[in-house]
Amino acid sequence: MTTSIQLLTGDQRSSSFDETDLTINQVRRVTVENGRIPCKLVRAQSVVGAKPRRKREDFITEKLIHISELDEDNVLLQNINKSLSRSKRIIVLTGAGISCNAGIPDFRSANGLYKQVKSEYPKINISSGQEMFDISLFRDEMKISVWATFMEKLYSSVQTARPTKTHRFIAHLKNRNKMLRCYTQNIDGLENNLGLELSSKGQTKTYLNELETNSLHNIHQQLQEKEQEKKEGFNATWKNFDVVQLHGDLNTLNCTKCFHIVQWSRSYARSFRRGELPSCPNCAEINMKRSQQGKRVVDTVGLLRPNIVLYGENHPSGEIISQGLNFDICKGKPDFFIIMGTSLKVDGVKKLVKQISKQVHEKGGLVVLVNKTSIGDSSWHGIIDYQIWEDCDSWVDFLEDEIPDFFKAQRQVERQRQLKREASELRKSKAEETKRTKESESFNTPPTTPVREELMLEEKDGGEKDMKGGVLNDIKRKLIATGDDFRECKRAKNISTL
Ligand SMILES: [Zn+2]
Repeated sequence: MTTSIQLLTGDQRSSSFDETDLTINQVRRVTVENGRIPCKLVRAQSVVGAKPRRKREDFITEKLIHISELDEDNVLLQNINKSLSRSKRIIVLTGAGISCNAGIPDFRSANGLYKQVKSEYPKINISSGQEMFDISLFRDEMKISVWATFMEKLYSSVQTARPTKTHRFIAHLKNRNKMLRCYTQNIDGLENNLGLELSSKGQTKTYLNELETNSLHNIHQQLQEKEQEKKEGFNATWKNFDVVQLHGDLNTLNCTKCFHIVQWSRSYARSFRRGELPSCPNCAEINMKRSQQGKRVVDTVGLLRPNIVLYGENHPSGEIISQGLNFDICKGKPDFFIIMGTSLKVDGVKKLVKQISKQVHEKGGLVVLVNKTSIGDSSWHGIIDYQIWEDCDSWVDFLEDEIPDFFKAQRQVERQRQLKREASELRKSKAEETKRTKESESFNTPPTTPVREELMLEEKDGGEKDMKGGVLNDIKRKLIATGDDFRECKRAKNISTL
């Protein structure tokens, strides 16, 4: 199966779906009555004395079901918790909602970045927070300047932010070996603070940058080598990524011309604060080398900008992410899908959700969205099973209370397994010892009566003798016979002496 996703396209605001995909899972799904409870569950519970069916796929729904409160008695939440507890290969998709509690502004919400920009620059011509992340802003000097200022603010707030409970939950899933992958639309990289491996770390240099100063022959050779590396090393590299950053990473900068990636520095931060994009040091170096070699110097050097993907531009790692997504879907066999803190407005992300959901449902797993805003139900029936209208951190708190075993550290789980193994081995060895003792007791019991009877029977019948018993009896008889002979001899001797 091949899948191709365009993560960010010019037509971002379209929300249309391929209707054929919507019917994919309908055959194997249960009917929802009154949009509330899956039929199979109702049927199972209605049988007197029968326990509810416990198959995971029974909790899959045909229509998106809303859960508005984290009520411990809610049977739907209990089912979700059961299904989650049994899952082993969970995919997580996150959005800005999971970082709000860390103090990072969401550019869509009413109190987000857009409001801040408008209050500071009332004259700037932007109508939404999303416009602050649209490639079209590069056509307007004023917008570039305002954007640079806010990128630095955002970067500074990320530096002081701490991961939320939801971030720690994601790290926990990884540590318990239950997470297949986390895809995030966030650019803050807070997961890095928890030791999770981010996909941006693999994106160190661009090919263009490496090829800039090489001959055509070398370029051809390098491209071939890269292709080979891609084929051989892709799976291994991809498996190492815990978090795939769909929209890039704010914590590094890249050049608009040569795509060279550099780290933030105080000097760069100062430029951004002034509303200026710093010049690219790599472009400057290339120009200097060309000048020394007497070659033509390129007129312009590139500018540094945060290494994020703006609306309307293609993701530089889009192809790799598509390939990785195919890998996760086809080989990873995800069995639960958690979507948190996103209202799923981006086309590329919508497609990603549909593809993962299809595979998760095939494995009998659930697709659960935890988000406080509406996503437009009609587009998501048969794709997302439940929407929990709650703050992501509150949901994680609820899970901790309801399924504490799920939150045990891997070390604890391994220790428990070890203790169980030891207890089982002890039981086995005790049982064996008891068996051996019984056998030994039966062996040590003097078999006088049976042997005598046996001997008598043998003597009477003249039948075949047991080898061991026979040998012993032979020895016995010989001893008796020898004694008799000895006594006979002694008697004879005494007589002769007399
Ligand atoms: Zn450059």
